[in-house]
Amino acid sequence: MQAKRFRSGMLWNDEFTGNLAIFCSDERFVNATLEFLKRQLGIDSCDLMVVAGGPAFIPNIEIALMDRLDLLLEAHKVKQVIFIAHDDCGYYKHLHKGLPPQTLKEKQREDLLSALIKLQSKSIKVRAFFAFVDSGEVIFEEVKL
Ligand SMILES: [Zn+2]
Repeated sequence: MQAKRFRSGMLWNDEFTGNLAIFCSDERFVNATLEFLKRQLGIDSCDLMVVAGGPAFIPNIEIALMDRLDLLLEAHKVKQVIFIAHDDCGYYKHLHKGLPPQTLKEKQREDLLSALIKLQSKSIKVRAFFAFVDSGEVIFEEVKL
């Protein structure tokens, strides 16, 4: 007996665009983030690294994830990376227990900038954003050096 199969309804595309987005797995921000990538940045397709804390693994030098990132950059010839951190991130709250929200935000911005510098040194186009909720809508604010 054949296992049950499900059709995706999506046409297969066998190309890499050279785009990679790295953001937190927090589901409250995921749909808005994918929409933001498509509609605001014009990135219809990209590789994803979606982990708790998003790009925090870069300044924190988490070797296992850094190895995966380097593999992607090389194998998929990544030319542009988009980092997105977000407000009220459970990863940061866990890592820095007891710090007030404003201090956590500052730490996240520092980490985004640190991640930017790290990847810019590899001659890759990098942009970073901080997502937060305003009037019930997710807003993405660019974080620049
Ligand atoms: Zn998060």
